[in-house]
Amino acid sequence: MSNNTESFVVAIDGPSASGKSTVSREAARKLQVMYVDSGAMYRGMTWKAVREGVDVTDADAVIELMASTEWEFFIEDLVLKFTIDGEDPTDHLRSEPVRERVANIAVIPEVRVFMVDRLRETAEFGPLVMEGRDIGSVVFPDARFKYYLDADPEERARRRALELQETEGSGDVEQVLSSLARRDKIDSTRKTAPLQIPLGAKVINTTGMTIDEVVDLIVSEVNAERATSSVS
Ligand code: C5P
Repeated sequence: MSNNTESFVVAIDGPSASGKSTVSREAARKLQVMYVDSGAMYRGMTWKAVREGVDVTDADAVIELMASTEWEFFIEDLVLKFTIDGEDPTDHLRSEPVRERVANIAVIPEVRVFMVDRLRETAEFGPLVMEGRDIGSVVFPDARFKYYLDADPEERARRRALELQETEGSGDVEQVLSSLARRDKIDSTRKTAPLQIPLGAKVINTTGMTIDEVVDLIVSEVNAERATSSVS
């Protein structure tokens, strides 16, 4: 991938519930560029495995399933979307069976190669904000803008529990804290592309910051750079 295609990639990495999704979506909207949620693709593959009754810890079975999966990508309102075997998986991506298994799917190197290739192709659609765990380190190591969002574990659990209370009617902070810790451990200790602070990334600890403050920080930096360079 040439530096040219990466000239306007804003890579936003960080652990679960660090504020990444809301911040990335909003920053993309303000910058008027495409938003790509890379986690949704790992979740999509996990949804298919759950639906087909495939054990996500059985790498060979997952790879075989992946080979027979039809993905179609398209852009809707500046958001990258996809279908799997012709179906829109959006409503299932945040379900309990998916979120408890997705980190296991994401450790499989062949799955990562597939996802990284697809994610790089999205830059052909134009400038973008992409969020994930390995965007600034592996997918777009030469990205012009790299951020790593973090927050204290208790704050992350509190935020996620609130989200679950809104979407599912219940969310226990202690339970969320242990589920996040489990996922963080798998994500940061896996052999291929572990969660890490990418080289050259600006670290933002979002504990005590509002979403707007984080978005403004990113958008103003990108816009300042846009104004003084040929990045467009
Ligand atoms: O960001 P989100 O919470 O939706 O990601 C779900 C899971 O997908 C993560 O816990 C991680 O295991 C995996 N993932 C990844 N690399 C990415 C994005 C997500 O391994 N770039």
